[in-house]
Order: sequence, then C-alpha cells, then structure tokens
Amino acid sequence: DYRSVGFIGLGAMGKPMAGHLAEVLPKECTIWVYDILEYSLHEFCSKYAERSKKAASAKEVAENCEIILTMLPESAHVRDAYLDPRTGICASPSSLANKLIIDHSTIDTATSSLIAFHITSISPSTSFYDAPVSGGVNGAISGTLAIFLGCAPTDPQLPRLMSLLSTFAAQIIPCGAPTYGLAAKLSNNYLSGIIAIAASEAFTMGMKAGLDPRVLARVYAASTAQNAVVDRFCPVPGVWHEAPSSRGYRDGFGVELMRKDFALAGEMAQRVGAQNVLGEVGRAIYEEAERDEACSGLDSRVVLRLLGGDERW
Ligand code: NAD
Repeated sequence: DYRSVGFIGLGAMGKPMAGHLAEVLPKECTIWVYDILEYSLHEFCSKYAERSKKAASAKEVAENCEIILTMLPESAHVRDAYLDPRTGICASPSSLANKLIIDHSTIDTATSSLIAFHITSISPSTSFYDAPVSGGVNGAISGTLAIFLGCAPTDPQLPRLMSLLSTFAAQIIPCGAPTYGLAAKLSNNYLSGIIAIAASEAFTMGMKAGLDPRVLARVYAASTAQNAVVDRFCPVPGVWHEAPSSRGYRDGFGVELMRKDFALAGEMAQRVGAQNVLGEVGRAIYEEAERDEACSGLDSRVVLRLLGGDERW
C-alpha cells in the first residue's frame, strides 16, 4: 500500500537493501534515494531507472515519501541527515505528518533518542524507529538480515513494519521500547567482537600445537565452543570458503565499524553501570587493528593477524 518509499545512504549495506525494495515493492511505488556520493545515486538510479528518483537532499526524500529509511555510518552522519536545518529530514516539519521513519544505522542511543524527540516535537503524528541490522553485506545482498526493532511487540505499527522490512530481513525482533534495538545490537556486536578475538587466540594456540584449523573448527562446532563467528566468519582463511578471511578479509564487517561499535558499547556500559572489562581490551585491539597497515580497511576478523595466528594459513 505504499506509493513512495525513500532510502537515504546507499553504501555497502544500504545499496542492496534499497535494491530489494526496488525489486519487490509494487511497480506503482516510487523509490526515492539520496546519498552524499553522487556516484552511488547515479549507479542506483541507472539500475532501477524506471522506478527510482534521485533526490537532491534528505529533505527532498522526506517531502516526497510516506516511508523513509536511513542507513548511515555514524551518529554525526545521522544527525546531519535528520537535523540539518536546510537539508535534513526534519527541515520541513509540515511534510512529516503521519509518516513512518526507520533508522537502520548503528549509532549511540542518545543520538537516536534526540532524533526521536525532535521528530515527535515537530510532528506528533510521525513514528520513528531505531532498527539496526545484523548479517553483514552478504545478509543485505541475500535479503536475510536480522533487524532489532526499538518498539514493543504490541506496537500498532508492527504489522506494517514487518511487511516492509521483510523485503530484506529474515528475522525481525521487537526489542521492547525505543532505543532498545540499538542497545540489543551493541550488546550483540560486543559479544561477537569478543568471540572473534577469543577464537583468534584459540585457533593460534591450536595451530601452533600442530593442529589443522579445519579440524579445530570441527571440534568447536561439535563442542561447547560452538559459535556463529567460527561457523560463518572464521578468522582463519580457508576453513570456510564463504568467510571474508577466505577472500583476503575483503567485503566483510570492517575493523573500523567494529572499533566504532566497541566505543559505543563502552559508552553504553558506562551509562547503564555495567562492567566492561573485556570491552576495554577489545576496544584497544580493534583500535590497533585500524592503525595497522595489514588490517585496516579489512574484515574485523583480521584481528587474527594481530594476534599472530596466520603464519601458516
Ligand atoms: P558505508 O560507509 O558503506 O555507507 C554509508 C553511506 O552513507 C555512504 O554511501 C555515504 O556516502 C552515505 N552518507 C554519509 N553521510 C550521509 C548523509 N549525511 N546523507 C546521505 N548519505 C550519507 O556504511 P555501511 O557499511 O553501509 O554501514 C552503514 C551502517 O550499518 C553503519 O552504522 C554500520 O555500523 C551498520 N552495519 C554495517 C554492516 C556491514 O557489514 N557493513 C553490518 C551491520 C550493520
């Protein structure tokens, strides 16, 4: 039942997500897109020429669409796209009435709250949701992302959200209340990033003792150490051919993003009064990886290189 859907941020994740909307939504629905990179806009609008429209700003997307989705790198970009007084989504309050706005970016909960507060104060009928995703670029391409929604399971908009987001998601989990989607995502990435470090050390130890990493991966999978990082994103190249490590750690979840999420998780732990002992260690390791020439720009599981495990493999 949508005539117009807008997507802002056509990066590694946003481009395939918007692509699913363009491929799945009825032809009568126009997909408005905006990105600060002209190249990304041009590429998308050439591919979906018949049904997409290139906007000149986030404001123009908001003015023309009933539903607006954003997928931006960090809090500063999200603030810019929503709150810039000339070009942002909130720049023309009267156009926002009754609209549904969904932010898929992984950012801090305070920025998300600020934006939600701003939107409801200028346009009380507008609904805003935090909806960070998991599953990486592969999940975005295959349309099988997991989405953590900042809303109650009884939210009246949930059926509408489910029907739209299932275009690119296999699992949609209402996390309870606004910002809880982000809190869940940061908690998840903290755990996943720590497992990648622990797995790198565990593999290194086993490999230095003479074991083949493929045998070690089978042992973990059959035992109490079974986990999704080793099963799907194994830090050691060649264990699983679809893991980023097996293609030179390219096209995965970058060390820069993991460093950002560890910083956000650290802030969250401090704010809610939770321990962050391993989080501090993890943050230092991902910061080091970002500075290290052999790791920067690559999938975060490249920390194996820092921890000494890729001598033979
Ligand atoms: P990306 O850097 O590839 O893409 C971001 C896009 O936003 C770029 O095209 C950029 O030009 C655009 N942009 C920046 N500021 C803008 C603005 N003000 N207005 C319009 N466009 C703007 O990032 P990504 O990998 O797609 O990640 C996006 C978010 O998703 C991040 O918060 C990240 O943590 C999260 N995420 C990423 C992955 C992954 O594997 N890449 C997985 C899960 C979640």
